[in-house]
Amino acid sequence: MGMTRRDFLNACLGLGVIAVAGQQKVRANSHREQWYLFGTLVDVTLGGVDSDEAASALSSLSAELHQRNRDWHPWRPGIMGDINAAIASSEGIAVDGHMAHMVSQCQQLHLASDGTFNPAIGKIVAQWGFHGDSSKRGQLPDRDLIARILATAPSPQDLHLGDGNLVSHNTEVQLDFGGYAKGYAIDLGRQLLAQRGVALALINAGGDLVTLGHAPDEHPWRVAIRHPQRNGQIAWLEVYGSEAVFTSGNYERYREHNGIRYPHIIDPRTGGPVQEIASATVVHRDAALADAAATALVVAGSKHWQDVAERLGVDQAMVVDAQGRIDQTSAMAERLRLSS
Ligand code: ADP
Ligand code: MG
Repeated sequence: MGMTRRDFLNACLGLGVIAVAGQQKVRANSHREQWYLFGTLVDVTLGGVDSDEAASALSSLSAELHQRNRDWHPWRPGIMGDINAAIASSEGIAVDGHMAHMVSQCQQLHLASDGTFNPAIGKIVAQWGFHGDSSKRGQLPDRDLIARILATAPSPQDLHLGDGNLVSHNTEVQLDFGGYAKGYAIDLGRQLLAQRGVALALINAGGDLVTLGHAPDEHPWRVAIRHPQRNGQIAWLEVYGSEAVFTSGNYERYREHNGIRYPHIIDPRTGGPVQEIASATVVHRDAALADAAATALVVAGSKHWQDVAERLGVDQAMVVDAQGRIDQTSAMAERLRLSS
């Protein structure tokens, strides 16, 4: 993926998480590499392996993640584009095992999240101009057009999978895994590292991260969560074993019109960007679920996020509203250290 200097700086500045190995030992023997993928800087640290093992694991991981980025890119030509073209013309399309698994997990997540996580609203996300490398400027989308799309209630439940063939009963469905595929992909990356015998790893994709290790172990990663409204961190926590920490926020990607910010997380009920919640952070073993859940909690809002988290099986979550008020589950409060 091509990257301008400005993209690179944005990726570095946009890190929602600053992760540091907790132990000198890990740092001394650690191996690090960075790639620009999934619209962000992916920073990988491996520990507990020698240099040769690390180099070979990193090159396999690089190949895997680059492939997934190409395959599941939300707007560049690739598998998603082919699927969306087939849906628009009421045709079935053959999908591989990963895609079949992703579609069915997204159907479950959509139901469990009470519709707040809806990766079938790609057509609306595109109308708002979020399918591009830079923010769209100028006129806001045509509300009538959005209303017409919404009237068909596009949802992952419109999709049917049989014998590796995907069909949609709604031609207005356009799949957009922008709120989910990064989690799924870095989870695959973590599995690959585990299979190669890597004992300790951190894959940090612009603040969304997975860790690999043995819990409890003596190598916690100290993970800082970026403040959604100002520079610096809002909180930090120690991450052990195999966990995922995902944050969705309206501070990294948004468009501006007449001084108003329109963030990239869309409420599927209204077809418009969510303004009430600034960010949501989820800790869970399953990175794909954590990614989707963080997006869902932003949409669910301050009144409903606890219910949606419970329905999704998320017990560790924090939500920050537009006024900077922090709300968290009791399990999250036990491990999160708020910064003063
Ligand atoms: P980030 O990209 O910063 O990690 P998210 O994980 O929340 O943030 O993903 C946001 C992306 O998900 C949007 O850019 C869009 O592609 C897609 N999206 C927007 N609204 C929703 C929604 N309600 N449900 C599922 N996906 C969404
Ligand atoms: Mg997400």
